Amino acid sequence: MVPLNHQNRKPMSFGDSLELINGTIVLNDKVDNCNLFIKNGVITKIGVDVGEHNKIDASGMFVLPGLINSHTHLGETVFKNLISFKGLYEYIRKTDDINTKLRSNTSFVRAASGYKSIVDFIKEGITTICAARCATECDNAGLRSFSGYIFMKSKKLQHFIDEFNEAFYDYINNIKTSKLSKPILFLHSIEYVDSDTLELISKLHKTYKLPFTVHLSETKYGEAKVRKNFGCSSTELLNSYGLINESALLVHCCYTSETDLQLIKKKKANVILCPTSNKRLNNRTPSLKTLLKLGINTSIATDGLATNLSPSLLAEYKYLAKIENINMENKSFAMLTTNPAKALGIKAGAIQKGNLSDLILLQPEKGYKFNGNIPSLFWHSKIKYVIVGGKPILLMDKYTTLNLSEVKAKFDLARTMVFKAV
Ligand SMILES: [Zn+2]
Repeated sequence: MVPLNHQNRKPMSFGDSLELINGTIVLNDKVDNCNLFIKNGVITKIGVDVGEHNKIDASGMFVLPGLINSHTHLGETVFKNLISFKGLYEYIRKTDDINTKLRSNTSFVRAASGYKSIVDFIKEGITTICAARCATECDNAGLRSFSGYIFMKSKKLQHFIDEFNEAFYDYINNIKTSKLSKPILFLHSIEYVDSDTLELISKLHKTYKLPFTVHLSETKYGEAKVRKNFGCSSTELLNSYGLINESALLVHCCYTSETDLQLIKKKKANVILCPTSNKRLNNRTPSLKTLLKLGINTSIATDGLATNLSPSLLAEYKYLAKIENINMENKSFAMLTTNPAKALGIKAGAIQKGNLSDLILLQPEKGYKFNGNIPSLFWHSKIKYVIVGGKPILLMDKYTTLNLSEVKAKFDLARTMVFKAV
């Protein structure tokens, strides 16, 4: 037996199975003091100790499903507080200019920004992210990811469209070898592509059954431009290409109309809210109450960590609850767990047999008594373990896959490069 407890956390080699013992497991709204057995990355048993050799002693800790961040941008963290912007277009123009000035250093800066973002997300209990071109960094970190092939006509990203025939299939084939990453089609926004590209995305979506994500109706100006050019809303336009459906993740939806929302509801598409980013970019956030009333599958995500400033999904949830004047309760907590899991088509976000073993272990502060409210448990606890696919990537506060000082040093260097290019 390899004991893994607070005193002895040395052994790091985990096989294909793992058992969590003595923890308090949060199963939906209930808690149970039982053991949890994981095999080949999936929860296979919840109940008595099966005597597995690899154990984590979760005494005094709560075991919860990992959080899912269904929309972010890894490469943006490096810009945090280094550039000022009044809205989305100024933000995109400035970051695009900096990336052009960085030239051959772009890849280094992007990777350094990526690893720093991942370190911050893991610390916040996030076990899955969805972002453009994030597979390599996430694989190395042991984080589950939906890695987007990006479609955007910008200085930095235009080549992904121009060189599509060579690049796309390589991209898909590379991801196929990964256990933790899956591909997703990432259309930046309708404003940054033409109708040929929309046609192409539509074809790929249908042919390869790849999920699809887009910044939808993020700005008032952009939505008005689409209406002027196409004579319909962005939602209606995407729908005409067959892109509003169950595997579509529609991010922001700041200026979607009532008719658009009815269409989204009818087609069972998913909405992702990023309220802090909306506020900082001077956009409105759609009404959560309306989305919930319509029964639209809604999730909360951080967006990039330069337009938002915090990697915490809980902070984002707290902010949304405040502006919407809703209680932070277990049902709406689903916007960080089961709702994004459903949107991404993965069996995760809840602790149950057959689900992916993406878990977090929380140690509550002294004297804290769990009253059934999961968001409150988060506020009063520290995340000590993060487990993805049965492998601990954070183990008693220590990263098992990443060298924290190296990540920090590279990020500092990348920040210096960006600072000089501003
Ligand atoms: Zn975004």
